[in-house]
Amino acid sequence: RRLSSKKIRSQFLDFFRSHDHVFVPSSSVVPSKDDGSYFVNAGMNQFKPIFLGTTEPGSDMAQLKRAVNSQKCIRVGGKHNDLKDVGRDLTHHTFFEMLGSWSFGDYFKREACVMAWQLLTEVYKIPADQLLVTYFGGNTELGLEPDEECREIWLSIGVPGNRVFPLGMKDNFWDMGDCGPCGPCTEIHLNRGLDASANLHERLMAGDPGITELWNLVFMQFNRELDGSLRALPACHVDTGMGLERLAAVLQGVSSNYDTDLFRPIFEVIQQVCDCPPYGGATGSDDKHSIDTAYRIIADHSRMLTVAMGDGLVPGRKGLDARVRHIMYRAFMHGFALNAPRGLLADLVPVVVDSLGEAFPELVAVPHQMQDVIITTEQRYSEQMKETEKSMKKALKASSVPHQLSTQEAERIVKGFYGSTTNADLLSLCAESMGVQFDVDAFHNHGLQQVRRSPTSVRSLAKERPALNQYEVEYLLQRGVPPTDDTFKYSTFN
Ligand code: ATP
Ligand code: MG
Ligand code: MG
Ligand code: MG
Repeated sequence: RRLSSKKIRSQFLDFFRSHDHVFVPSSSVVPSKDDGSYFVNAGMNQFKPIFLGTTEPGSDMAQLKRAVNSQKCIRVGGKHNDLKDVGRDLTHHTFFEMLGSWSFGDYFKREACVMAWQLLTEVYKIPADQLLVTYFGGNTELGLEPDEECREIWLSIGVPGNRVFPLGMKDNFWDMGDCGPCGPCTEIHLNRGLDASANLHERLMAGDPGITELWNLVFMQFNRELDGSLRALPACHVDTGMGLERLAAVLQGVSSNYDTDLFRPIFEVIQQVCDCPPYGGATGSDDKHSIDTAYRIIADHSRMLTVAMGDGLVPGRKGLDARVRHIMYRAFMHGFALNAPRGLLADLVPVVVDSLGEAFPELVAVPHQMQDVIITTEQRYSEQMKETEKSMKKALKASSVPHQLSTQEAERIVKGFYGSTTNADLLSLCAESMGVQFDVDAFHNHGLQQVRRSPTSVRSLAKERPALNQYEVEYLLQRGVPPTDDTFKYSTFN
């Protein structure tokens, strides 16, 4: 019998509880210092004060030595942004659950590796010869040595040397953002390749889809300062995170997260409501407009939206609300490929609540309100989309290349030259649905360039104006100005 995702989650929590870890509920997906650009993206976010040594003495948090939880994470902005991969690959979601364990100045590398290995191979019974591990290979520029200690630990646990690999900063040095707690890490991967031992290192480095990263064990030792330098933290900590959806795929014997019990029930309702062909399964199709891709994106987005609204966000014009609106618009747009009737997304809310409500009781309280908000937004979306399509057709008629929207034309549309309800975001969705080429990154870069030309004015603007535009904020972030107060709430898509 297949292990359900609920059981997988509870076995994780129980295992660490039995090793003296205290269960800490997931925090909201809205960061405590919300700069409007990213959601909580890892289990460690809520523990940042512990790493930095800034907890209130005597508080519950200051007393924590070992913790375990299952954190709601969303990665659609800031340093960790997976939106482009969502639905196109089988392992990245906008929303996912991170199963995490922590040592706060208590045990360090050895115990962390031993516990992780024991859980995977003895409790979950994943065959050890399907697993491989990576460790930090050092960085001369920053004066960081390779983590030989970590390598030795894996060898002593019994992982053969030909399955222990050094990797560089990008993969094996973890940070939550441009500044903040960080450190070298070691990661456990699952090798699904048929030829189990051939070219593992090369395949790892090339990001071979047959190898899935499962679990990251971070050894928190530094804080990255505003100027990019690394300062040693007052103590050494362990911070681990494993995606529940990926683990569920492994333990349920399927090759795609979308074939687990976390997604299947959502697909069933999509099929019923749309009366379309069933989800085709894990082909990993890269056909951008395939029905299966639409299934995956809508199901993914329905989870993210339900969770975000459960934490009090609503589709809107500013900050995280604007990101919620963007994701919601994308979900509506992909409904096109499935011939979805109005109301599909709203119909998925109870399915998600059913699946996640036990782990996150805050979802159970407000499904009807969420559904009402979605219905109203869908109405607005379709009106705005019609307007945008009109503007787009007009612009394309005047354009020299008929299936391509240039940055200049896009700017004219967004600035209201053709239509006033349009925004760059909607424009890129509209281009996608009409099969028109529009390089939204080039468009954004152009905006950023314009801001770069007058840096001083941006700094003073930050003091004067309540809302900066996206480019102004990005400029400040890149210059290391900490986005802490309300002036940094921006309207990305107005
Ligand atoms: P990847 O290299 O696959 O993008 P990552 O290195 O960015 O993952 P970490 O920051 O190390 O991920 O997060 C810890 C774990 O969380 C990963 O090992 C993975 O199991 C899971 N995870 C990360 N991003 C996602 C995502 N977008 N969707 C689902 N699970 C994820
Ligand atoms: Mg990633
Ligand atoms: Mg990785
Ligand atoms: Mg990782």
